[in-house]
Amino acid sequence: MEQRKQVLSCIQPTGHMHFGNYFGAIKNWVQLQNDYDCIYGVVDYHAMTMPYQAKKLRENTWELIFNLIATGIQPDNLFIQSLVPEHAELSWIFNCFTSYGHLGRMTQFKDKSAQNKDKGDGGFISAGLYTYPVLQAADILIYRADYVPVGKDQEQHLELTRDIAQRFNHQIGKEYFVLPEPLFTEVPKVMSLADPTRKMSKSAGEKHYVNVFAEEARIRKQVRSAVTDTGEATEGMSEGIANLFRLLKASECHEAHDSLVQDYQSGALKYVDLKEAVANGLVALNEQFRSARAELNANKKEVKNQVKASSAEIRKRAQETIKQVKDLAGLLNVRF
Ligand code: ADP
Repeated sequence: MEQRKQVLSCIQPTGHMHFGNYFGAIKNWVQLQNDYDCIYGVVDYHAMTMPYQAKKLRENTWELIFNLIATGIQPDNLFIQSLVPEHAELSWIFNCFTSYGHLGRMTQFKDKSAQNKDKGDGGFISAGLYTYPVLQAADILIYRADYVPVGKDQEQHLELTRDIAQRFNHQIGKEYFVLPEPLFTEVPKVMSLADPTRKMSKSAGEKHYVNVFAEEARIRKQVRSAVTDTGEATEGMSEGIANLFRLLKASECHEAHDSLVQDYQSGALKYVDLKEAVANGLVALNEQFRSARAELNANKKEVKNQVKASSAEIRKRAQETIKQVKDLAGLLNVRF
């Protein structure tokens, strides 16, 4: 049988999982597991690049692991980045194969450092935030990933990864690293219900995202109060309404979706009905995921051990790469 292609993707443990994350990334990850050899990382080293609290970071890491499993990621495909410290080691080596000027052109660095400037802590911007895309390159290349499912916002980082791989290959005179390709699967961009002109996101504050694991009543309330009339029009439809239809479709409520689209076209659409349908769709997923989560909670220790074991298994692959890279780069390898 032909070997399945390697897919790698990572997510930062920075707080609640919202429906933007789910529809825009995780649902796709779950499906990719059918066709590819998938590795998904909860990248806690990355979460240190913005101001954070140590205790909260560890909690968020496990919380995200449990939530990913509850939404359909297979535990065997999961690893926690800090349990595979070779990522950080490769990242150092790659720092020496990365152009300083290239890093400075990363738009995410510009955006995130601007965010820090407005916050306390004297506008502290860590060098980690600057070199973050190098660690990301290590995350990808350490597993020789063929494909990386990314959003358009990450395209620039993947380009840098390919650049680093090429420079390394060139310097050692061997096509050692596979150049990873982006995997652009069609995923919806979910907008904030409170302000449909901006992306649903944690960083915008609580009212701008719907937590996948929230209480049902909160989800219904958030959908009921979704802004419908403001925002830019998408083909005649206001962005708020378009976003609600998008959510309905993403929730696989196809019958309700098609019938409400007809209502919209004939001018008979009642917003309250659309909102009710969206809330039902989100709540159906929420119930399913919360019940999976409750089962996992009953076996917390086993689940944690399982993910520690899968991280150890995945680590073996990272160790193999690091060993070869050190040989190729002129560093020493000794087994003590
Ligand atoms: P946040 O913006 O809430 O901090 P992250 O940046 O941690 O979210 O995103 C994690 C993943 O979820 C990424 O793959 C990102 O592309 C996806 N994602 C985040 N917000 C949305 C959204 N509103 N619509 C679609 N996908 C999203």
